[in-house]
Order: sequence, then structure tokens, then C-alpha cells
Amino acid sequence: MLAAGGWNSKIAKEAGIEVPLVTYGTRALAIIGRTRLNKYSISDYRYGYYTRPMGNLLDPIAFIAGDGNVKTSDLNEVKRLTNKSYSDWLIGVMRKRDPSMMVSAIAGHSLVEMAYDYEPVIGKVPNTNNLYLIGGFDGYGAKLGPGLAFELARIIMGLNPTIDISCYDINRFENYEGQRDVDPHWEPVMLYLPAPNGASPCFYKNK
Ligand SMILES: Cc1cc2nc3c(=O)[nH]c(=O)nc-3n(C[C@H](O)[C@H](O)[C@H](O)COP(=O)(O)OP(=O)(O)OC[C@H]3O[C@@H](n4cnc5c(N)ncnc54)[C@H](O)[C@@H]3O)c2cc1C
Repeated sequence: MLAAGGWNSKIAKEAGIEVPLVTYGTRALAIIGRTRLNKYSISDYRYGYYTRPMGNLLDPIAFIAGDGNVKTSDLNEVKRLTNKSYSDWLIGVMRKRDPSMMVSAIAGHSLVEMAYDYEPVIGKVPNTNNLYLIGGFDGYGAKLGPGLAFELARIIMGLNPTIDISCYDINRFENYEGQRDVDPHWEPVMLYLPAPNGASPCFYKNK
């Protein structure tokens, strides 16, 4: 089972296997502040950031904010770029919307990944004897990950999935001739627009 998140494609490559995934970095901050931004999930495409509520008792005084992604597969580079100038920039653009006092409390960063068509991927890796993959969760794995892990477990046990998994099935890349790269700033979960590679019709069907 290959389920190593942003490390999937590197591990596969070391084994001489290509998986349809591109690794990149992502970062987010927990912000302390009583602002108009606390209450909503916002994708601000004018200034290039998003916010979302914490979803707990801290909501009146804190929220999460980030700027999408960093195009590198080097974790140290993502860490280096999640620095004070990043939080100064992020707070600066948010204050264009609400000039209230905001302070960066906790910074998070890691590697994540996207599939060539921006949808998650599950299933048996073609041309391998017994290797299963689950990945491509971008910045929304906390939402789709558990459900797709459940479906993959059923597949491995020889049971039928409980949903139509064709949108996520790795076999959709069997005759794939599109781009083998992604624009990590394109967030399918936030932007209801056609993916740059235009390959997956699933997004429109399901979301
Ligand atoms: C800062 C930040 C904020 C985010 N915010 C949100 C959010 O608000 N909502 C949301 O839905 N998602 C969010 N995400 C994205 C979410 O975390 C990912 O989509 C999700 O974790 C992907 O799940 P995964 O199981 O595929 O990979 P991961 O959660 O990355 O798990 C992979 C695991 O494999 C391990 N591993 C790697 N290599 C090896 C190896 N060689 N051997 C053994 N183990 C290995 C790693 O250590 C890791 O524990 C955020 C991500 C980041 C970085």
C-alpha cells in the first residue's frame, strides 16, 4: 500500500514506478484576531489567500488562513518559506479586507500532492503485482481521505465500492495523454472552474 501523501511519487519513482501525482508544498497559519474573516470560509482571489473557521470554541478569536501552495517538492524549502515574511504578507493582505489586529499564532507546512487531473487517486497501480495507491488529496484530504480509504479497503477485500469511484480510479490514467504537471495554485475544492488540464469531468458531477 502506498499512502505516503506528498512522498508517494518519490517513493514510487525509487521503485521505478510512475504514479500520476505531482508533489508540492502547502502552508497555513492559525491567526488570532477578532475580525470579519473569522466566521467564513473565504477564497480571496483578488489577494490570493483563503481563510476558514477553526470549527471549535476558538472561532470568535481565531481562524485558519493560508495562500494555497508552493511549487516545490522539497520539504525544507516549504519550511523556509513559511517564515515571518510569509505571515507578514498574509496578515497584510487580509488587513486590506479588515484592518483589525491579527497575530500569527501557529504555522503549519508540509508536502501534499495533486493528480494530473486534480482529483484524488485510489486503486491498484497498473503493471504491478500487488501495489495499491491512495493519494492526490491536495489541501482537502481531511474531507475526502477517510471516505476513499474506506472504498479502497473494500476494493482490496474484493467487495464492490459503495459509490461510483470512476472519478478516483487510477485506471482513468491508462491512456492519459494530457499534461503531467499541475498548477498548485488551482484549488479545485474552492474554485468551481474547469481544471487547467481539463481532464476530469468528475468535479462537475460530484461537487
Ligand atoms: C498546513 C496544511 C493545512 C491543511 N489544511 C487542510 C484543511 O484545512 N482541510 C483539509 O481537508 N486538508 C488540509 N490539508 C491537507 C491534508 O493534510 C492532506 O490532504 C492529507 O493529509 C493527505 O492525506 P494522506 O493520508 O494522503 O497523506 P498524509 O496525511 O501526508 O500522510 C502520509 C503519511 O505517510 C508518512 N510517510 C511518508 N513517507 C513515508 C515512508 N517512506 N515510510 C512510512 N511513512 C511515510 C508521512 O509521515 C505521513 O504521516 C492541509 C495540509 C497542510 C500541510
